[in-house]
Amino acid sequence: MGRYTGPSCKLCRREGMKLFLKGDRCYMAKCAIEVGRPSPGMHGHRRSKTSDYGLQLREKQRLRRMYGLQEGQFRLFFDRAAQKKGRTGETLLQMLEMRLDNLVYRFGFASSRKSARQFVNHGHVLVNGRKSTIPSRILKAGDVVQVIDRPASREYVKPFMDAAESRGLAPWVTLDKTAARGEILHVPSREEIQPLVNEQLIVELYSK
Ligand code: SF4
Repeated sequence: MGRYTGPSCKLCRREGMKLFLKGDRCYMAKCAIEVGRPSPGMHGHRRSKTSDYGLQLREKQRLRRMYGLQEGQFRLFFDRAAQKKGRTGETLLQMLEMRLDNLVYRFGFASSRKSARQFVNHGHVLVNGRKSTIPSRILKAGDVVQVIDRPASREYVKPFMDAAESRGLAPWVTLDKTAARGEILHVPSREEIQPLVNEQLIVELYSK
């Protein structure tokens, strides 16, 4: 399946929740979900009864779209999570949160996960002092992510860091804005992870 190139807000409308795909706009009153725009399509306002499978599928789509993963990548992440000890759903969320592109977004070096991915791809980011261009790289507690010491790169991230700070940083990371340097304090617990999804439904979907 190819990469989705359509309007981001349409995905949120389809899922009926904010997926935070568009940076600053997502925190403004004009966000399509805040405005109350219905699901896309002719019958957007109509609510039909959803089967168990439908509920599980929707939950998976929400999480997958929130992190901007294609189906194959998402399934791969799930399979890796299932191989680890502990609760698969929680492990999956932790793995998604510990991706380099997500952390670049969490630290406020980019306005959305999509632009974070591009920022990493274009070589603006160091992990523990070395350039890393792999957005899907999974980091660990104690790792340090820093914007490369180039005036253009440092200038670019300033407004995003300010915006991220004013919204409040995740409790499991710290940020030094002057050095454009973020550190992972610990792997987040389930309670510390924002996605408002029921990950158990995703486990049930893939366990069929
Ligand atoms: Fe989703 Fe952001 Fe568009 Fe709101 S503004 S609908 S959160 S992408």
